[in-house]
Amino acid sequence: MDIPRIFNVTESAHRIHNPFTPDNLATLGAALRLEPETRVLDLGSGSGEMLCTWARDHGIGGTGIDMSQLFTEQAELRAEELGVAGRVEFIHGDAAGYVADEKVGVAACLGATWIGGGVAGTIGLLAQSLRTGGIILIGEPYWRKLPPTQDVAKGCLAGAISDFLTLPGLLASFGDLDYDLVEMVLANQDGWDRYEAAKWLTMRRWLDANPDDDFAKEVRAQLTSEPERYATFTREYLGWGVFALMAR
Ligand code: SAH
Repeated sequence: MDIPRIFNVTESAHRIHNPFTPDNLATLGAALRLEPETRVLDLGSGSGEMLCTWARDHGIGGTGIDMSQLFTEQAELRAEELGVAGRVEFIHGDAAGYVADEKVGVAACLGATWIGGGVAGTIGLLAQSLRTGGIILIGEPYWRKLPPTQDVAKGCLAGAISDFLTLPGLLASFGDLDYDLVEMVLANQDGWDRYEAAKWLTMRRWLDANPDDDFAKEVRAQLTSEPERYATFTREYLGWGVFALMAR
């Protein structure tokens, strides 16, 4: 079981697999006023940067589940590096339908809401692991500017304009689900550059090291086209943020 190989190549050097910077993650951890020993569940935990740094900085403990074997291994190494391997555990697996045995104080899904079939489904899934009064974290794109055409949405790698909402629309949708939005931290274009542009050097280095790999043609095509696509579409139109929710 694994994610499509292209992500394991392009994001192999990322610690954070979304447009958040280390500062954004730290800001969010502080904003949530985490108590030591809080349990945090993270569906689609990637390379584990959120759990590992919050364990180091706030004394939380927790579990991450991710379908990428590579990212899960990197998460375990990061936990050891930060001296928090006893507090956080990482499971390689499909997080769809995952419910924690013991209820948690924070249940998160950052940049992987397809795991629950969309934002509403993921909130419903996370809620099953949450103790009363706990906080749900959703990391999700939104339209900074509404795309004028469906082609522009597709340029942002969305299936259609309707895949995402505007920021006010997204915030309103949480209320419609009977949740209070209690905090949020938004990425900016510098953060998007860190997420997207970091893939380019990784791809170039991978190509130089693996010129004869069957996959080289696909990676080469992406490296050639991605910078212009990104600057034209994603960077202009797409925002990203993490939204902290509490049931009303
Ligand atoms: N939350 C992390 C990773 C976001 S990228 C971070 O912010 O850094 C999306 C992640 O979802 C990837 O790590 C990918 O491997 C993982 N993923 C995709 N489908 C999944 C599934 N069905 N179950 C668990 N993880 C999944």
